[in-house]
Amino acid sequence: MARATQSLSRYKALSGYQAKRDFDKTSEPSGIGENRVTASQHLRFVIQKHDATRLHYDLRLEFGDVFRSWAVTRGPCLDPGEKRLAVQVEDHPLEYGDFEGTIPEDEYGGGTVMIWDRGFWAPQTSEPPAQSLHDGELKFILAGEKLKGSFVLVRLKPRAGEKRDNWLLIKHKDEWSTPGKDTIQEMDRSVASQRTMKQIAAGKGNASTPFMTSGKPIAPGAVWDEQSTERARNETNAQRAARAPPAVATSPKLTHPDRVLWPGAKPLTKRDLADYLVAVSPWMIRHLYGRPCSFLRTPDGIDGEQFFQRHPMPGQSLALGSVRVDREHDPYVQIDDAQTLVDMAQFSAIEFHPWNSAPHRPRVPGRLVFDLDPAPDVPFDTVIDAAREMRDFLEKLGLVTFCKSTGGKGLHVVAPLVADPSLTWDQAKLFAQTVAARLAQDAPSRYVATMSKKRRAGRIFIDYLRNDATATAVAPLSPRARPGATVSMPLTWAQVKKGLDPKRFTIKTVPALIAKSAAWRDYDAGARALRGAIEALIGSVP
Ligand code: ATP
Ligand code: MN
Repeated sequence: MARATQSLSRYKALSGYQAKRDFDKTSEPSGIGENRVTASQHLRFVIQKHDATRLHYDLRLEFGDVFRSWAVTRGPCLDPGEKRLAVQVEDHPLEYGDFEGTIPEDEYGGGTVMIWDRGFWAPQTSEPPAQSLHDGELKFILAGEKLKGSFVLVRLKPRAGEKRDNWLLIKHKDEWSTPGKDTIQEMDRSVASQRTMKQIAAGKGNASTPFMTSGKPIAPGAVWDEQSTERARNETNAQRAARAPPAVATSPKLTHPDRVLWPGAKPLTKRDLADYLVAVSPWMIRHLYGRPCSFLRTPDGIDGEQFFQRHPMPGQSLALGSVRVDREHDPYVQIDDAQTLVDMAQFSAIEFHPWNSAPHRPRVPGRLVFDLDPAPDVPFDTVIDAAREMRDFLEKLGLVTFCKSTGGKGLHVVAPLVADPSLTWDQAKLFAQTVAARLAQDAPSRYVATMSKKRRAGRIFIDYLRNDATATAVAPLSPRARPGATVSMPLTWAQVKKGLDPKRFTIKTVPALIAKSAAWRDYDAGARALRGAIEALIGSVP
């Protein structure tokens, strides 16, 4: 989790911060050397009340490796009628979010600092938030202990001679806004130590609890949930990203429930599909929600015509979720809750193929998938060895991996990522390609990392191309349109050993197996920053 080096981007971003401070004199973190910041599935924010030359509140939003920071002179407020001046200041190291104490009088920013609020934030934009900032308008939600709901930062046109970036911080009207009232600053104790400014200045009272450097991943939990309990009609994308998807579903009304989808000695029907989806949807939905999702439909069974659907079709009776990713493409289907997933049985939707993006952030890489595709003459035990080797390689780079059968002939090795809006799919794809190439280079008799068919005989193709914007991989627990109604089954690494038979996992056997399996239970906690892995990979070049 910890990274020994700081990235070049972080180094550059923090040079302004570091130049202003003398770390022999102030106890503020330098941001130099070992990075102790805990990985987080969601972006974090902190507001520090700072009694410097002039009292103000520093709003800090996690952005890639650093905190983008604004000094809000009169402090944030929950009255949508108020516009608060927010002067953008230098980026701060993420460790700064745990700083509470006193900066010596003669030093830069001398005075007392309180951790006034903290929690998680999410952009409410369809473009990358870096673009929104560049364009001068960032809509976002906060799920803090004091501040909640939707806000906007709008950049003011600079006046002649003005050096700094002046912005306005404005609360949007929502269930957390308090029109005409501004009582937020009366809640005047530290959220990290419950101390007052006076106590902090005197060095008295509780020590502050860490958030950024707690050492264990902190889930948004109660703070996020509280914000997300309204299943409100006007709920935004980012608010939806904030909450766990509803995970309870019941079987829908089916037309032709006895239609055979998987023919064979023991034919399986549309009703069997619906029952299966009801049983596994609580586990499955967390890998689908918030991502565009293609699905494979086989209205006349898997031996009949099959078609992939990506966009909602006119006339589909059920309310399918959809998401517009950009101006060029029609909205994509998106399955955000268990009931919608189960309702898909009515369309004879057998396979589910989500993007590998972070939930509700279609442009941000959310996981890496290495698809191990054996040539027909490769025994499955060899694929198992390959998956374990892939795991070892990725773990050395600091990633945590999970394995699943595909319901077909290969295995998928999956590494969940901390959502980092400053990372692109091009970077993620290059990383995956380099990993695949390295393995193929070390064992050319076993692996190939290129698409070309002719070199594949006897080898495993490491397909890294799942790692791209709009590319998909079959979802964990998705049934397959293959004989026997096999399922892409999440496995523990202990299960990935000689003798494993992926054909055992079918829509009939999996509901009982998944209920008692520990596989992928730590998936969310396994998210790691890809940036760290990229640095480790570059550093490992012999
Ligand atoms: P197997 O283990 O048999 O290879 P798989 O699910 O990995 O099963 P692949 O053919 O290797 O199947 O494809 C990998 C992924 O690429 C799929 O899971 C799917 O998400 C995506 N994919 C492949 N072909 C298509 C297609 N024609 N349309 C949409 N997505 C596809
Ligand atoms: Mn495959």
